[in-house]
Amino acid sequence: MPPEFGATPWGRAWVRTVESTSMARPNPLLPRARTLARNTTTVVVAGVGHVEAEVTVSGQVRRVRIDLPLWPDETQAEAGRLIARAMAEHRGLVAGDLPDTLEADLTQHAISIAVPPEAQQGECTCRARTRPCVHILATIYALAQLVDERPALAVELRSTPTKATVTADPGWVALSDLDPAGFYGD
Ligand SMILES: [Zn+2]
Repeated sequence: MPPEFGATPWGRAWVRTVESTSMARPNPLLPRARTLARNTTTVVVAGVGHVEAEVTVSGQVRRVRIDLPLWPDETQAEAGRLIARAMAEHRGLVAGDLPDTLEADLTQHAISIAVPPEAQQGECTCRARTRPCVHILATIYALAQLVDERPALAVELRSTPTKATVTADPGWVALSDLDPAGFYGD
């Protein structure tokens, strides 16, 4: 069975931001964060540069917002080229899916899919002193699941819409990067 969080390389990149193996010991909040992600976390918004979620704990709603830096312009342009090429080579994927080989491609070009913990700007309405709190961690797990379900989200989170090559539209490949004749020809 695939893992519940991080079933694809895209979601896994996000899971790794909270389950970093470089830490001396695992964050003790993680099991609880996974339970919350599984049961009471609703991602309200996940899009360009941020994610918002509501995490319900004992009937109380905690609101989480995490701001994420976009890729620099040149990185977005490079990612766009790699995406267009990968999509041209992998026709027939369902809308929102991306080939796993593309993840490897991006990584090879030093383009990180996920945002490292120190660059995630997380806010939560709870009063826990530790940051990230368990609700922020739950939001990252929930986000990883959404990314597993629709890998294109991983790109959308890091890209400016006008430059992004992925949208919710099934015809989302950057048409300018493809030979129109080839694209519509089959
Ligand atoms: Zn919190």
